[in-house]
This record gives sequence, C-alpha cells and structure tokens, in this order.
Amino acid sequence: MPAATADLHSPTRTPSGIIKFTNCRLVRHKRLVEEDLWISSTTGKILHCQEAFYEHRASPDRTIDLGGRIVSPGFIDVQLNGGFGFDFSVAPEDTTTYAKGVARLNRQLIRTGVTAYLPTLTSQRSEVYHKVLPHLGPSGSRRNASDGAESLGTHCEGPFLNPLKKGIHDASLFLSAPSGFSSLSACYGAHNLLPPSGPIKCITFAPEIPGVLSCIPQLVDHGITVSLGHTDATFHEASAAISAGASMITHLFNAMRPLHHRDPGIFGLLGTTPGSPTTITTTTTSSSPGQAAKPFFGCIADGVHLHPTTVALAYSAHPSGFILVSDAMALMGLPDGTYDWTNGSRIRKEGDVLTLEGEEKIAGSAVTLVECVNNFWNWSGVGVAEAVGAVTETPARMLGVEGVKGCLEPGADADVVVLEEGVGEGGWKRLVVEQVWKFGVKVFDKEQE
Ligand SMILES: [Zn+2]
Repeated sequence: MPAATADLHSPTRTPSGIIKFTNCRLVRHKRLVEEDLWISSTTGKILHCQEAFYEHRASPDRTIDLGGRIVSPGFIDVQLNGGFGFDFSVAPEDTTTYAKGVARLNRQLIRTGVTAYLPTLTSQRSEVYHKVLPHLGPSGSRRNASDGAESLGTHCEGPFLNPLKKGIHDASLFLSAPSGFSSLSACYGAHNLLPPSGPIKCITFAPEIPGVLSCIPQLVDHGITVSLGHTDATFHEASAAISAGASMITHLFNAMRPLHHRDPGIFGLLGTTPGSPTTITTTTTSSSPGQAAKPFFGCIADGVHLHPTTVALAYSAHPSGFILVSDAMALMGLPDGTYDWTNGSRIRKEGDVLTLEGEEKIAGSAVTLVECVNNFWNWSGVGVAEAVGAVTETPARMLGVEGVKGCLEPGADADVVVLEEGVGEGGWKRLVVEQVWKFGVKVFDKEQE
C-alpha cells in the first residue's frame, strides 16, 4: 500500500501527538459544555477536532475518558509574590541561586493548577529590580512543559505608592516621579520597560503621587498594564487615571480609600457608565471629561482580606472585570509557624492566614488560586464555569492574551486543568485539581502522587 494511503489507524502508523479528552465538560465562555477536547503535544496547542480528523486525517494517540470531570483552561494568577518558601522580592547575592529558586517555584506552582502568572514584586530599591527582573520576564518562546508554570511578565507593585496605604510594604522605599517617565526608568531600568521582551508587564501605582499620572499613556504604549493600588486616590483622581489609560485595580478594597457616599473612591469606578460625566454638578453643562471603560479589578477571596459579601458585591458591580488573585507569599505551601520577613519583622502563618507578629495586620495571603475559586463559587452563587472564568478568561483579556491563554479554543495553548467537582460538609462545593497539562503534556496527576 502506498505510504500516502496508509491506514492511519494501524498500529504501525506514526504517532500524531494528539490526545483526546472525552466524557468531560469544558469551560467555554463561562459556561459548561459537553464536548470532547483535542490537544497536540507536538505543537502544544488545542486542536480543531473536526479539522484534524477530516482534513488532516489525524487521529488521537490516546483517548482519555475523564468520567464527567470538568476541563478548564489553565489558571492565570496576576498577583503572586512567591510560594513554597521562595519570595520573588528577596534577591540573594548569587543570582544563580535566585534563578534556581524561580525554576523550583514554577514546577511546584503548576501542580496547583496555575499554568501562567505574573511574578509580583513588592516595593524595592532600584538595585533589587535590576538584579531580579532579568529572571522574571515572559517565558516567551521556550514553551517547555517541564519548566512548569510560565511567567507572562512581572507585576511591579510599587514603589510609587502612597504611604497612607502602605499595607505591608516598606514605606521608606516609596518614591514619587518628579521627572515623569524618566523617574520610572531610573527606578526599574529603562531596558526593563521596553516592549516586547521587557520583563515588566504590569505596574501598580498610586495615581495621586506626583508625576505618576503623566506616565500612564507611555506605559500603555509600551504594552504595560497600569493598575491602581496602595492609593488614597479620590474618585476624581482615580477617574483621571482611567481616562489616561489605567485599566486595572490591584486587590480592590485592600490598601485604598474606602467607599464614601460623597466620594466613592476607586470602588466608584465600577459603578460608572462609559461616556457619562464623572463629577457632581449643579449645571447641565458640565465640562468634566466622560468616563472611560470600567477597569478590571483583582480580589483576594481568601476569606481574610475581604468579607464574602464584599466579594459578591464587587462581582455584581462589574462581573466581566472580576479577577481572582491569590496575592500569595512565600509561605504559601509551607507548614504553619512563624517565619522571618524581609524588613526584619516576622510573620505568623495559621492556615491561609498571615499576620505580622505582634500586630493583627494582615500580611499577604498563603492561599492557592483554586481555593479562591472555591470560596468565590460558594459565596456568590454563580455557576462553576463563571467562577473559573475569574482565573482564566478574564485575566487573559486583562493581559491582552485572550485566544492564546485562558480559553479552550482551537489555536490556544494547550494549558489545561482537569477538575473534580465535589460537595463537602454543610454543602460546601469544592473543585479539586486532578490533572494539569502544559503545552499539551501532562505535568501533574493527583492519582499518580
Ligand atoms: Zn498590595
């Protein structure tokens, strides 16, 4: 038989590298649909199954019956400070040690379902940015499944923040930007702000800090997302930042001016209507600028940072902008106890709760992203696919990588999480990460642990 017409189903055929998931429910556009999913371990992409079968006469090497489990796109965490004992913000003298720490974290993080993320730095001295940023940039073309979770670029939270809302940042490191963009370049390093391969993908800053507002358009031109956080901005100041191009809010409600009925602060941005006036006026001919689109916003649904009702309220104000973030620190994944913190203080870990020793101040979180999804799912009453959308489709849109990450559409990266759905005590619904696939290759299987 000529090679061209060889039976593709014979045992001697060339492996296609195709895996077919069947008997499963896919998370598509925040809905669950009963469909098969075809992925390629050769290209690392999701396939169009009919096209693969009929046009390319390709058939799967393996068909995996998932017994009705949920198949989700890989999770994306846009605010992760560290985990498993590693802190992105602590730069050792020896950068090889740092690089090994990042690599180890990536391999452990992916086991939690997070296949892509923004390594996040708290406020640091300029020399720390110069030292660590080269290790935290986008993984880009490497596409190696065994590397684990993939960086989509660094999130620099600070140091252009307001001391009044410092949270656990060291306010002595905070800066203003008297020379505008040049001040930012001097702090982070100009080469670290350059697209497309510059390591910085997102910067959180307080728009009321002198010089900061004027930098927003240039940052956005460079493909950097501007997020508002650790800020005492009024509604008016926050609106000006959104009009200038800021598109995200960092851990909504935490470390920012709270909602007041006469000045809704940053939360007010979620209640605006694009194009409408943003200031209260007694005349009908207000010259105030129209409001830009509502921003995306991160919420820490760890059960500590925000009351469950606050999370549900924020979601209902702007569902399509709602992103769950872990804001997890190095202690995520470690046993309970008291640990040294970067600026000489110590942090107590009890479960997912972190507090500064001697104070009751919340000191970041130790929660995994899937637990944030579970909390939000139970608190809000939304469907499971909608809850999963807050760590997949929505962060992908925020980062401008929709169609590549955060979805199960043909052509997207085959970053896939298989989830078991269960109900525990008191009717508490729970998703458990059963399998994780990166670029079409299985990298975690709970059953084989
Ligand atoms: Zn913060």
